[in-house]
Amino acid sequence: MTDKRIENVIIVGGACAGYTAAVYAARADLEPLVIEGFQWGGQLQNTTEVENYPGFPEGIMGPELMNRFRAQAERFGTRFITDDVTRFELTDGGIQTVWVGDDEYRARTVILAMGAQPKRLGIPGEMELGGRGVSTCGVCDGAFFKGRDVVVIGGGDTAMEDSMFVSKYADKLTVLHRRDEFRASMVMQDRAREVENIGFKTPYVPDEFVAGEDGALDHVRITHAETGESEELKVGGAFVAIGHIPGSELVAGQIDLHDNGYVKVAEPSTRTNLAGVFAIGDLVDFTYRQAVTAAGSGTRGALDAEWYLRDTPPTDEEKIEAAEEARI
Ligand code: NDP
Repeated sequence: MTDKRIENVIIVGGACAGYTAAVYAARADLEPLVIEGFQWGGQLQNTTEVENYPGFPEGIMGPELMNRFRAQAERFGTRFITDDVTRFELTDGGIQTVWVGDDEYRARTVILAMGAQPKRLGIPGEMELGGRGVSTCGVCDGAFFKGRDVVVIGGGDTAMEDSMFVSKYADKLTVLHRRDEFRASMVMQDRAREVENIGFKTPYVPDEFVAGEDGALDHVRITHAETGESEELKVGGAFVAIGHIPGSELVAGQIDLHDNGYVKVAEPSTRTNLAGVFAIGDLVDFTYRQAVTAAGSGTRGALDAEWYLRDTPPTDEEKIEAAEEARI
């Protein structure tokens, strides 16, 4: 099916950034269409308590927060397609086309908000103990581990950043890394090494997260990468900080990406290298990655799209298409 209508804006991705963009675009009378994904809600959909989203002093559950974002976008007339985009055809200043299976949607602007997924170790217990001791976000969940011994797995900047944050709450924190050398910048490593309750254990690989009788994480089974000797690391919390994978697969080759796969934008705007194509949220941001920063960039994305539509007269092709649409 081809939808004859040329939308003002299609937002791809239903989570903090995409829904915020929809609220702003809808209130600007742009009648946004959000293709939110089959599993909308992004990373917050797998999160329990969110304590750092302003406006909720008692905290709020991640899925509930996403329901509220979505409801707010709906209230102002946003339309949703609860399915996954399967193909993009992006142009520089022309009509942007997005497919969901055989269904084709066209728009003058597209806001990309496909987010990023934390990388997983793929070991037993990792998924089962999510929310019961195993986390992929130190800044989000660190405060729940007050007075416990915890481990942060990874050797990059995220692992260092998470360690420094979580060490404020934890009793003792171990950074566990599979090599003796760290990928993290020297300055971040030095800062982490200066923290009294942070220790480093290398080269070790985690094999399994093991629950105690109460069903929560009790220890991590780890193996020395060189000797092959196994041991148990007794911890009440484990943070997997081995990187993220941005959801840029379907636009790779069409728009400019950084080497790490994140979409390049002309900061502080959300403009990509293609006129009329904007990118927001964790698809762009590999530094802050917070719900509130993603929401903030959603605002910028919607305003950028609004200004683009205001300042860019329709092309001849668009005028012809609109005339055809009016005849139907
Ligand atoms: P990185 O890709 O930089 O590091 C990932 C780390 O996880 C590496 O040390 C890697 O080990 C390890 N790892 C990957 N897969 C596995 C696995 N299966 N088992 C065990 N260990 C694994 O990701 P980051 O998220 O740390 O950083 C991403 C980007 O964001 C970087 O450009 C970084 O500089 C930036 N960033 C900047 C911050 C800041 O400036 N404040 C804060 C956070 C991130 P190995 O080294 O052996 O490959």
